[in-house]
Amino acid sequence: MDVSHYGWPLPVIEEKQMWWDWNDPVLTGPISDPPPRLLWMGTLANPILLGTAAWLILVAPLLAFVLGRRAWRAHGGQCTGCGYPVGTSPVCTECGAAVTPSG
Ligand SMILES: [Zn+2]
Repeated sequence: MDVSHYGWPLPVIEEKQMWWDWNDPVLTGPISDPPPRLLWMGTLANPILLGTAAWLILVAPLLAFVLGRRAWRAHGGQCTGCGYPVGTSPVCTECGAAVTPSG
């Protein structure tokens, strides 16, 4: 019997092929070349694994940059939206956004 798995990172398709002596009438068995079947673990988990990896590679650095820039601006007394120096004003005089005082 030969079993092959296809798919990445987890196998999704399983293909089997079985051999026996075709000329021996006593030996009968299931179909020797069954159709490929889906492996549900790989079918369900592969999109989640690849989607998570793509999100970590593509979106997470941008999100970290935006949040870091906001924290840096708030710490430096600037508007978190546009970076304009706001001083003690409760509203940014450049863009009108509400300013949250930093501790
Ligand atoms: Zn602003």
